[in-house]
Amino acid sequence: MLKRRTFLTVASMTGLMPAAFAKNADTQWNKTVDVLVFGGGMAGLTAAISAKQNGAKNVLLLEKAAYLGGHSVMSGAGYYIGGTDKQKNAGIDDSLEINWKDAVDRGVAANRFIKRDTAVARTVYENGVETMGWLESLGVKFTDQPVQGIGNRKRVHYVAPGYKRGSPELIKALNQAALKAGVVIQTNSKLVSLITESKELGAPVIGAVVEEKGKTFNIRATGGVILATGGFANGPEMVKRYHPYLEGVPSLGSKMNVGDGIRAATDIGAQMIVETNGFGMNMLFVGTHKGQSMGLPLTEAPIIVVNKEGQRFQDESRGYLACTHKMVEKGYKVGYWIFDAKTFEKYRNGCLKPLFETEVVHEYPTLETLAKGEKINVDGLLQTVKDYNEDVAKGKDRHFGRTKLLQTLDKGPFCAFEAEPRIYTSYSGLEINTKGQVLDTRSKPIPGLYAAGDVCGHLGYQANLGGGGISSLSCAAVYGRITGKEAAVR
Ligand SMILES: Cc1cc2nc3c(=O)[nH]c(=O)nc-3n(C[C@H](O)[C@H](O)[C@H](O)COP(=O)(O)OP(=O)(O)OC[C@H]3O[C@@H](n4cnc5c(N)ncnc54)[C@H](O)[C@@H]3O)c2cc1C
Repeated sequence: MLKRRTFLTVASMTGLMPAAFAKNADTQWNKTVDVLVFGGGMAGLTAAISAKQNGAKNVLLLEKAAYLGGHSVMSGAGYYIGGTDKQKNAGIDDSLEINWKDAVDRGVAANRFIKRDTAVARTVYENGVETMGWLESLGVKFTDQPVQGIGNRKRVHYVAPGYKRGSPELIKALNQAALKAGVVIQTNSKLVSLITESKELGAPVIGAVVEEKGKTFNIRATGGVILATGGFANGPEMVKRYHPYLEGVPSLGSKMNVGDGIRAATDIGAQMIVETNGFGMNMLFVGTHKGQSMGLPLTEAPIIVVNKEGQRFQDESRGYLACTHKMVEKGYKVGYWIFDAKTFEKYRNGCLKPLFETEVVHEYPTLETLAKGEKINVDGLLQTVKDYNEDVAKGKDRHFGRTKLLQTLDKGPFCAFEAEPRIYTSYSGLEINTKGQVLDTRSKPIPGLYAAGDVCGHLGYQANLGGGGISSLSCAAVYGRITGKEAAVR
């Protein structure tokens, strides 16, 4: 049942009086809505639609950029979840519990499992399949064949038509569904700060200060404010503050994702979780030549990665996250993925397809010509490959203990892909409970304030546990849907 609902019409904000007060119960309101959503990515769009479906009359979604989508529209479009009918139809034996156990086991192995947040993370696993069905009901189409990502089952469900190409389709479908549901969407309009009933810690959030065309406005939200403004992948100040070891590492994220929602919420006493347990932020490889982001093949195909000296520096099969972090730690600006014809032939139409479709991969008849062509230390590379091939034959990687995807590099032509590490999502963010309510520094819910998606960065981290348990798009959709409902029925 709806409580505290208002019935004022939502009009364009342009032309309204600039805001006079903020953070004060006596605020002069320029507009009142039931639910106010900030951010037009997966989390914000699903939150707004869900709010409407659950009875909120006036739902306003404000997006800082001139277009919707945020990181969601840049993503690989892979929705990870275990236990779907699509998996069953494809003969894949998976379930909520198999998925959860895989994630927890990996989390424990990688020392990333933090018990405190189990319920918040598990909520994504418990609701992921149903939420996928809900997305389908909104017009989002998924491909029929789940594929392998990180994890012990094929549980990546790409939005059709597939990797990367599905992400614009995802946002298009959600945008249409939101408009059809009656959500009012406004771009070029951004959250500045939150307005609370009083200045006490934990005081209810009753609205927000919004900036549009250089002017500020106060918008009242009777049901709640939902923060879906993404993380701070492109916010150098927050990167420096929370993860100083990554200062100066370029970002491939949206220029808009600088941590506005996190800042606004922490300004009123929200709890920030800073991930110090393992990797602070998510990084991918980005091709030096064409700027295409790439990561998954490292866990699926026999590939080694070397530095300019031709030396390996990590167990590559641990994945892009481990490799890119090691590069930053060592100060390597670029790395070279190297593989031979055996890998190329086996995976060119599989996990390596996007690499060949979108990036510059150089082919060379020998390792020596490869080293010369890529300006890698020739002797260094030849020695590295000699050692590696010997280790593969013995089944023991002497340097990094690699046990997976061990295969000799001895059949030409040899391929090289030059890439550099780039930040792409932040793991640190607002602490929420299983209803998506933002918690204050005493771990109490702040009435009227919700968060979904990358703004509560610990979700992408905790729910992902050891990596690949689940994906951030699933987290964003599950908590988008939950927060929309919670704010609507509040
Ligand atoms: C290259 C890349 C590939 C990825 N691939 C995958 C994948 O295959 N599978 C997967 O699960 N995840 C993937 N991810 C991660 C995934 O895209 C994100 O975790 C997810 O999109 C987060 O959704 P969101 O709605 O929280 O944030 P976003 O989609 O980033 O949306 C946040 C929105 O808020 C807006 N905003 C920011 N500040 C304000 C403000 N002050 N006021 C109003 N609006 C504001 C932004 O402009 C943006 O539109 C990938 C990410 C990247 C960058």
